[in-house]
Amino acid sequence: MHVLDKLSALANSAKYDVSCASSGSTRQGGALGRATLGGICHSWSADGRCISLLKVLFSNICVYDCAYCINRRSNDIRRAQFTPEELARLTVNFYQKNYIEGLFLSSAIVKNPDHTMELLNKTMRLLREAYLFHGYIHVKVIPGSSPALVDEAGRLADRVSVNIELPSAQSLALLAPQKNYPAIFAPMRHIHKTILQHKEENKTTKHAMKFAPAGQSTQLIIGASPERDLQILKLSAFLYQSVRMRRVYYSAYVPVNAGTNLPALIRPPLLREHRLYQADWLLRFYGFEATELLDEQHPDFEEGLDPKVSWALRHIGAFPVEINTADYSQLLRIPGVGVRSAARIMAVRKVKKIRYEDLKKLRVVLKRAQYFILVNGRYHGDVSPEPVGIRQKLDVIARRPPSQSQLTLFSAPEEREAASSISGEL
Ligand code: SF4
Repeated sequence: MHVLDKLSALANSAKYDVSCASSGSTRQGGALGRATLGGICHSWSADGRCISLLKVLFSNICVYDCAYCINRRSNDIRRAQFTPEELARLTVNFYQKNYIEGLFLSSAIVKNPDHTMELLNKTMRLLREAYLFHGYIHVKVIPGSSPALVDEAGRLADRVSVNIELPSAQSLALLAPQKNYPAIFAPMRHIHKTILQHKEENKTTKHAMKFAPAGQSTQLIIGASPERDLQILKLSAFLYQSVRMRRVYYSAYVPVNAGTNLPALIRPPLLREHRLYQADWLLRFYGFEATELLDEQHPDFEEGLDPKVSWALRHIGAFPVEINTADYSQLLRIPGVGVRSAARIMAVRKVKKIRYEDLKKLRVVLKRAQYFILVNGRYHGDVSPEPVGIRQKLDVIARRPPSQSQLTLFSAPEEREAASSISGEL
């Protein structure tokens, strides 16, 4: 098979993995490439997936048979596998032609986890040592591979990720019986421990070796199994706290295989994925706990409302908040006030009283915020500050014509982009 035919088959096989955004690495100084923040740009394909990196599988010849996966052993698809030299050369060629900024390298399970990890490491070794490539590399760590191979992957890559895929051990056992939670969480913990060790060494040694400088991430498939949003969000919160996960990516389940254990979805649940990304931002940047956003009575996000609005309507007694006197943490909880606009409000308040007309310039999203604030004692909302009226104004599902009640995979790149890049105005 020609190497470009392999590329076509293996890039196609990789497209359902969303955990590939690049950030946070400072690798530089080699003969070729630079993985600084500015050196990596993100772009989005027609179906909304990130394509700024060469995103490819090393092999799609899998010995596993995960029910949700296009590459599973029992599917009749075009199979291909690179050699490490082929893939390293291809990456460098593409880089030199300015097609890509880096490499996102994953693989199906070739023979067994250790053998697969050795092949991925060999590819990265060639890139780093033979081609002196210092561009960004994100590599998938294969659950079940030995700690020594995980260590080598961490030394060669900027970011590593171990995909959890399904949000509970029971669902994983049902849909991916050759995988298990202990084999996934062991390398995650090992990576976390090693990152911390290297950080300590960096404090005392000038030339300490780098280990996964852009941290680790993971991916959860949404909608292939019955877990509620509450369980998914609690798992994410646990990962952010316990192993300092840099990002949890949520991937709406795309029904590529017919199977009795899989839900018969007509479309991927993209709006649900979007709500989980928004909630994830609330966990990481707004000081919310998973159990504040959802509880046993409300185990799922409302599709029509963003999670912050939904939370605010359930806690309407805490509003309206006076913009000129609220503390920073109160400001952050106002729908339509983001991290940056809250900081701007705090800064401007030091020199003058804020007027309602000023808020737009401070990047407050008044469409939402108007119902939850007072400015100099005055309420500016166009309905009274009651949950029913506010809900009618802000519920995007209720306001949408029935024909647009769900996003489709191929018509919603902006929504996908928004889902992955919401930057502080929730
Ligand atoms: S291990 Fe499972 S999810 Fe990964 S490629 Fe093989 S069948 Fe697909």
